[in-house]
Amino acid sequence: MAALLTFLSEPGRKQLPSPSGGVTGTTLANARVVLADEVREGWLTIEDGRITHVGRGAAPRDGVDLGGRYVLPGFVDIHHHGGAGGSYPAADAEQALTAARFHLGHGTTTCVASLVTASPRELSAAVATLAELCDDGVFAGIHLEGPYISAARCGAHDPALLRDPDAAELAALIETGRGHVRMLTIAPELPGALDVIRFATGQGVIAALGHSDADYERTRAGVEAGGTVATHLFNALPPLHHRSPGPIAALLEDERVTVELINDGVHVHPAMLRLAHAAAGPGRVALITDAMAAAGLGDGAYRLGPMHVEVSGGVARLTEGGAIAGSTLTMDVAFRRTVRQVGLSLPEAARAAALTPARVLGVADRVGSIAAGKDADLVVLSDDLRVEAVMRKGAWAVPPQ
Ligand SMILES: [Zn+2]
Repeated sequence: MAALLTFLSEPGRKQLPSPSGGVTGTTLANARVVLADEVREGWLTIEDGRITHVGRGAAPRDGVDLGGRYVLPGFVDIHHHGGAGGSYPAADAEQALTAARFHLGHGTTTCVASLVTASPRELSAAVATLAELCDDGVFAGIHLEGPYISAARCGAHDPALLRDPDAAELAALIETGRGHVRMLTIAPELPGALDVIRFATGQGVIAALGHSDADYERTRAGVEAGGTVATHLFNALPPLHHRSPGPIAALLEDERVTVELINDGVHVHPAMLRLAHAAAGPGRVALITDAMAAAGLGDGAYRLGPMHVEVSGGVARLTEGGAIAGSTLTMDVAFRRTVRQVGLSLPEAARAAALTPARVLGVADRVGSIAAGKDADLVVLSDDLRVEAVMRKGAWAVPPQ
């Protein structure tokens, strides 16, 4: 647990003192609680790291007065590569903790650490490092983005390191990850891809289809083989075309598939987010950040795995070629944009930022919404939807002021 303790007790972050007078736990009063289908003026109580009650109106006992602020489920980011200078592909535990803490400060209480295409040795080292942090509860899993992706749609991945799907290599990574490798992004048109999708899902690894140049039919075959996630829909895929619908239509129309969307105002136009949300329906859209090390820092030169990246005006691009190279997004900004620019309601946006990705990961029984019995993973937002406090497992990571 050492890493988690470090994670939650960063210098300068105070734990909230427990209430005195024989009362255990915490009450959050005078809140606007964002539930699955309503925003309720009310309160909630927390004991032993879990939500025990969600009530309406005035709280039955004194608590932390949130002054009418919004309380949302902690965000769940199933696809991001780092932040605040820390990079998961670097295979460095300190860097990984720095990034996880940074995103926690922006409301992400559950996250999956994503790698990028790298050599077998580098991937193995990064998986080993991140698996230990998964043991400590810092990450909910590891996502292998590549190396089995299309050279034609590889975006910021190093084309020299792409490989054909290889079940033996994947099996070795899964073994190194000791159950923590949870997702694989794969292009279904590559030789052997459908078998590797079947192998991955059989091992409990979520198959995400993406960085793909497949047509409509081949993408459907990928879904039939077990693909259940679309890696950053629209990005690194052939565009929608009315006579050649391609992977986007195949992924949007299949109810088994959850589509990831990067809502940073750069990767996808708000109109396409509305279109995707309308086509997929509620419950099949997962907001992700795809953030890389530069998130939270200024413009400048960075790395994404082996690739050199230049960040300018907050937009990360490969130094060579200029492909978009991840984002500098955080989940609070993605959430706010989804309400303001896309036009989803607070409960709909919270679903896309928390419950749906939690369901993808298979942890929706514990996190992703505000309900009695779930972990007390909460984000407190101001009227203008800015983070004012963050709680993880009942402890304040960012205490209310
Ligand atoms: Zn990514």
